[in-house]
Amino acid sequence: MSFDFDLFVIGAGSGGVRAARFSAGFGARVAIAESRYLGGTCVNVGCVPKKLLVYGAHFSDDFAHAPGFGWEAVHPGFDWPTLVANKNREIQRLNEVYRGLLVNSGVTLFEGHATLCDAHTVSIAGQRFSAANILLATGSWPQMPDIPGKEYAITSNEAFFLKELPRRVLVVGGGYIAVEFASIFHGLGAQTTLLYRRELFLRGFDRSVREHLRDELSKKGLSLQFNADIARIDKQADGSLAATLKDGRMLGTDCVFYATGRRAMLDGLGLENTAVELDENGFIEVDDEYRTTEPSLRAIGDVIGRVALTPVALAEGMAVARRLFRPEEYRPLDYALIPTAVFSLPNIAMVGLSEEEAVRRGHRVMLFESRFRPLQLTLTGSQERALIKLVVDVDNDRVLGCHMVGPEAGEILQGLAVALKAGATKAVFDETLGIHPTMAEEFVTLR
Ligand code: FAD
Ligand code: NDP
Repeated sequence: MSFDFDLFVIGAGSGGVRAARFSAGFGARVAIAESRYLGGTCVNVGCVPKKLLVYGAHFSDDFAHAPGFGWEAVHPGFDWPTLVANKNREIQRLNEVYRGLLVNSGVTLFEGHATLCDAHTVSIAGQRFSAANILLATGSWPQMPDIPGKEYAITSNEAFFLKELPRRVLVVGGGYIAVEFASIFHGLGAQTTLLYRRELFLRGFDRSVREHLRDELSKKGLSLQFNADIARIDKQADGSLAATLKDGRMLGTDCVFYATGRRAMLDGLGLENTAVELDENGFIEVDDEYRTTEPSLRAIGDVIGRVALTPVALAEGMAVARRLFRPEEYRPLDYALIPTAVFSLPNIAMVGLSEEEAVRRGHRVMLFESRFRPLQLTLTGSQERALIKLVVDVDNDRVLGCHMVGPEAGEILQGLAVALKAGATKAVFDETLGIHPTMAEEFVTLR
């Protein structure tokens, strides 16, 4: 049987673009469909614009610290529409970069919503195309609990395009997005409250890191309310919002921002026309080589609900391209030791196991921890402290986990991820000389 394409990718986000480009580079006839924005979540409403807003939010600290270095006190004004317009311009540029990457690598690009007609056929705006293989890389979408007044709330999708910066914001959730956006809103000058339903946010991160970040955010004046959740939201006569909490308290605000996780994006995809099955959380079920329960369909990225990070989607896209069209170069993706950062202010970053996870897995652990005032803050009034922590296996000296809270934690932990991937022991850390004076050197001077 002959097909129009060797591979049809649905979704031009992180994973889809990577799989399409490399498959075409390996000589396959490839098409990709994108219904919304080239580059997907990461480029348009995720990592990239988020990081730009974090950079923007950091200036409040920089201005506050400047007098300690002899700069005369500055009283800057902040203009949200300028930041959003500049951010939008940069994202449009990136959209075009992605278009160029696809077209130049010989991929046929369809800008429209793709629906599966059967296991080998995709339809876009009434046109049907056949493909030997179809890759589902449709990503994820914010989800929020079904409470009265939820229509007054926003998610990260809308936050990037708000017309003005709200004066007061309630952020709901205790994961990456909640913590990052609480820092953004607070840094840009909004009165910010974060509500999380359990006793401490960032479940899954090392306990010392979670507690340290809690203390640092509180010191900065961000209001953290744990064991708290919203029961309903009402609009007030003056246009503001009233959030009634489950414990009966009422909080007035101008914006309720939900960051309570994401679901697989399957809307109008036509999965019912195939034998693809979902797991118990509603994500597409795949095997070790990303095959769904329909043999000609594979799936990668957020839609499979494994690790929702861009570098993971990229690596999965690469793995599928190799598996299909360069099998001799195929290597299964190693999901151990995926480094990650939360771009709160201050940042947190980690690679490897938390102390709790290491113990749960039966390791006998030795802990090395240091809390210190970063040199860059010593001439300022800031009382911010950084935290670094190593979790070491007593039995073989292997470093199981590195954790940090502090400026540029993400930049620092990337290098340590290489060391852990190479199997570094604590002795290797000890033998490594520092770069002085840096914060990163603290990781090799812990005794
Ligand atoms: P996506 O990038 O979401 O791409 C899926 C694409 O498919 C979308 O463009 C969508 O429009 C398209 N699509 C869906 N259905 C169809 C259809 N039927 N037809 C045609 N097209 C369709 N990760 C990090 O590593 N670092 C970060 O700092 C980070 N920050 C984030 C901040 C936020 C606010 C969010 C929401 C996410 C963040 N992430 C971050 C996660 C990261 O963005 C995702 O893990 C990554 O984008 C997943 O890539 P993907 O290819 O699976 O899906
Ligand atoms: P997360 O899964 O990280 O966090 C969701 C949070 O919402 C949890 O704290 C969860 O609480 C809480 N929650 C879930 N349901 C409810 C509910 N019904 N009521 C109240 N609270 C609820 O999701 P995010 O939306 O923050 O981010 C999605 C993913 O995107 C992340 O997991 C990450 O993989 C990726 N991402 C990565 C970033 C980065 O690399 N810097 C930045 C942003 C996103 P509980 O702990 O109790 O379950």
